[in-house]
Amino acid sequence: MESKSLPSIATQEPAIRIDWINSAVIVLSPLLAIAGAIYAVRTSGFALVDLGILVAFFILAGMGITVGYHRHFSHLSYEAHPVARFFMLVAGASALQNSALAWASDHRDHHQFTDGPKDPYNINKGFFWAHMGWIFFQPVTPPDFANVKDLKRDPLVMWQHRNYLAIAILSGFVLPTLVGALFGRALEGFVWGGLVRLVLVHHSTFLINSAAHIFGERHHSEATTARDSWWLPFISFGEGYHNYHHSYPSDYRNGVAWHHFDPSKWIIATMEKIGLAWNLRRNRRQRAAA
Ligand SMILES: [Zn+2]
Ligand SMILES: [Zn+2]
Repeated sequence: MESKSLPSIATQEPAIRIDWINSAVIVLSPLLAIAGAIYAVRTSGFALVDLGILVAFFILAGMGITVGYHRHFSHLSYEAHPVARFFMLVAGASALQNSALAWASDHRDHHQFTDGPKDPYNINKGFFWAHMGWIFFQPVTPPDFANVKDLKRDPLVMWQHRNYLAIAILSGFVLPTLVGALFGRALEGFVWGGLVRLVLVHHSTFLINSAAHIFGERHHSEATTARDSWWLPFISFGEGYHNYHHSYPSDYRNGVAWHHFDPSKWIIATMEKIGLAWNLRRNRRQRAAA
């Protein structure tokens, strides 16, 4: 009987160390958001403008991730005007989820190695790991970004990568504080548009890596754990049709039917209408559906 030594799957998992900065952000931001919200409500109540700032910056950061980081930069599902790309990079940075280059590199690994040891948010390591546990760690060897060579040649992407932290602080915290100040509510702008908004956007994104690999149906393929969820799209700007997305990752849509709630798809289609996006990619078999 022929015996072949197969490479051990377990040894493919990269060595990791704790990332103290990531850990501090993920642990402290919800605590600061709760403390800040309690303080703000006690001292000045909750005004309509606070809600407006919270919703506006939630949409900007969330769509910066879904329309920008995810569908444009990670999957190249459409091409876009430099002005739109700049806007997406600034809005995406405000979500404090790393630079577009690093995010796309992790995400391309997630698609290439789904559910395996090299999947950064491997659901087989449990809900908590896929949701946020993986963020507490970094590979011991710095990433070589070999899977994002196209993005490394992109001056706009590299500008954002080099200046990520400054852009994230300006767009994610300074800007909502300034908008609040216009209404005499600078602290409230910081609390609702900065801190509370950040925590909501984090977990909106994280749920796609955790819940969307556990709850729902596999309408298109059973090759991975990715699921189509009826409720996740409503809190993730349309990203919850995750079985479809893993089956056809370069489609600019995640929800392909007309009744699917996919605001990211609608924004990209609107960008196409006004000349800010082009070459929108569709899975051929689903072309007639949207
Ligand atoms: Zn996934
Ligand atoms: Zn994806």
